[in-house]
Amino acid sequence: MSRTSPPIILSFRRTFALLILLIVLPSAGLSGFGVVAIINERAAVEKRLEATWQGTLEALARELPLAVQTARFEEEDGDVRLVDARGRLLSRDSFRVEGHQVQATAPELATALESLLSSAEDFPLGTTLFSLMVGGRATLIKAERQGDVVRGVRLSPSAVEALLEEEAEHLVSPGEPVRFTLISRQEPTGEGLMGRLVSEVAQARASALGPQVLAERVLAPPLQDLRLGVVPTGEDPIARASTRNRVVYVVLLALFYLTLTFGVVYTGRVLYREAKLSRMKTDFVSLVSHELRTPVTSIRMFIETLALGRVKEPEQTQQVLRMLLGETERLSTLIERVLDWARIETGRKVYQREPQPVSEVVGAAVEAFRAQRLEGDVQLEVEVPEPPPRVEVDRDALAGALLNLLQNAYKYSREDKRVTLSVRAHGRWVDLSVEDHGVGIAPRDKKRIFERFYRVDNLLTRKTEGSGLGLAITRGIVEAHGGRISVRSEPGKGSRFTIQLPAGRA
Ligand code: ADP
Repeated sequence: MSRTSPPIILSFRRTFALLILLIVLPSAGLSGFGVVAIINERAAVEKRLEATWQGTLEALARELPLAVQTARFEEEDGDVRLVDARGRLLSRDSFRVEGHQVQATAPELATALESLLSSAEDFPLGTTLFSLMVGGRATLIKAERQGDVVRGVRLSPSAVEALLEEEAEHLVSPGEPVRFTLISRQEPTGEGLMGRLVSEVAQARASALGPQVLAERVLAPPLQDLRLGVVPTGEDPIARASTRNRVVYVVLLALFYLTLTFGVVYTGRVLYREAKLSRMKTDFVSLVSHELRTPVTSIRMFIETLALGRVKEPEQTQQVLRMLLGETERLSTLIERVLDWARIETGRKVYQREPQPVSEVVGAAVEAFRAQRLEGDVQLEVEVPEPPPRVEVDRDALAGALLNLLQNAYKYSREDKRVTLSVRAHGRWVDLSVEDHGVGIAPRDKKRIFERFYRVDNLLTRKTEGSGLGLAITRGIVEAHGGRISVRSEPGKGSRFTIQLPAGRA
C-alpha cells in the first residue's frame, strides 16, 4: 500500500485559499463601497445645504452694497469716516488722493492704492464701492471723488458683519444656528511656484480647520474678490451627521472583520485538524497492513516448510513451531492493540477495578515484559517501597499500560538498555515511573506523542515496529482511572514517563 497522503493536505490548502478568496474579496469590495458611500453622503448633504441657502445669500448680496452705499462720509479733524444711517462707524482706515498724491492712515492701503491708480482722475466722479487687495487680502473700499480730490475708507470687517446680521434678520427665521460672513480672497503671499504652493496649502488647511462654510456666493463685480458665506454658529450639522455615520460604519466594519477573521481562523483550524486526522488514519491503515503482512508472510512460510516435509529433525520442527508461535503472538498483540484502542476511543472499554497493592500491577507488567524474552540484555530494575501503596485499579489494564511504557523504553534505547521502574507515594497520589537512557524526545514532540497514530519521525522509529497507538492507549487507561501521564525527557539522554494514580483505600 502506498503512503501518498499529502494530497489531502494539499487540496485542503487549495480549498481553503479559494474559500478565503471568495469571502475576503467581496467583503473588501463591500467595505470600499461603504467608504465611497460615506464620502459621497457628505458631498450630498453639502449640496443640499448649499441649495437651501442660495436664495438668502442672493438677497444679501444685493442688499449689502446698497446698505454700504447709503452710509455717509463724515469728516472729523481732516480724517474721513463712514457712518451708517444709525450712526454706527463702518470704516477702519481712511485715505485721500489729491492729484498724484496718495495719503492713507495705513501704509499697506497707500501701497495698494498707488499700484491701482496713478492719479485721482482715474476714479469715476461721485461715490464708488469696490474691492481692493490690501496686504494680500481683499477688502471693501468706499470712495468719493469731488473734482481732483478722492477721499475714501476701508471698511472694517466686523462692522460689515454687523451690517450683514442686521440685513439677514428679516431674511432668516430667528433661532437658525447660522451667521453670515464676508470671506475675502487671499492672494498667494510667497514668490514663485514653491511660495504659491505653500500658501495654497496653508489656505486649504485654514479652510479645513476653520469654521465650516455651509454655502457661499461671490459678490457681483466690482466686489468679485469677496464672497458671502453662511457659517454654522453651533456644532457643524454636516460634521455631526457624518461623524456619527463614520463611527457607526467603522464599528460595524471592525466587528465584521473581527468575526470574519475568527470564522476563517476557526474553520481553517477545524478543517486542518480533520484533514490531518484523515491523513493519520490512512497512514495508520497502511502501517497496520504493513505490520500484519510481515508476521503473516512468516507464518505462511513456516507452515509451507512443515507441509512440504522439509524439516526432518524433531529438534528443527520444535524450532519452527516456536518461531510460528512467536509470529502469531506478534499478530495477536497487534490486533489486540487496535481493538483495545477502538474500545477506549468509543468508551466501550469496561474496567474491573479492585483495591490492591500497587506491587500486583507492577508484578504483572514485569512478568509480561520478561515473558517477551526481548533480545539484547535489558537491565530492568524495579523499586517498590515497603509496604507497597494501594491503588484501586483494573490490574490487567494498568499492567498493559505499564507494559507499553516498558516496551517503549526498550524500543527507543540503543546500547544502554538500563530501564528503571519505580513507585513512589506522595500525598493522595501514587507515581509509577519508567525511566530509560535512550534516544529521548524533542520538546516539540512531547505533547504530541500521546496523540493517536503519532510517531516521532526519525531513523530509529522508522526501523522499529509500532503503530503510534501505544501511548494513546496508555493515556486512555490512566485517565479512565482518574490519573495523569506525563513525560520528562532530554534528547539523547533518555526519558522518564510517569503514571500518576490516585491512592486507593488502605
Ligand atoms: P509506537 O507504536 O510508535 O511506539 P507510541 O504511542 O507508544 O507508539 O509512541 C509514540 C512515539 O513516541 C514513538 O513513535 C516514539 O517516537 C516516541 N516514544 C515513546 N516512548 C519513548 C521513549 N521511551 N523514548 C523515546 N521516544 C519515545
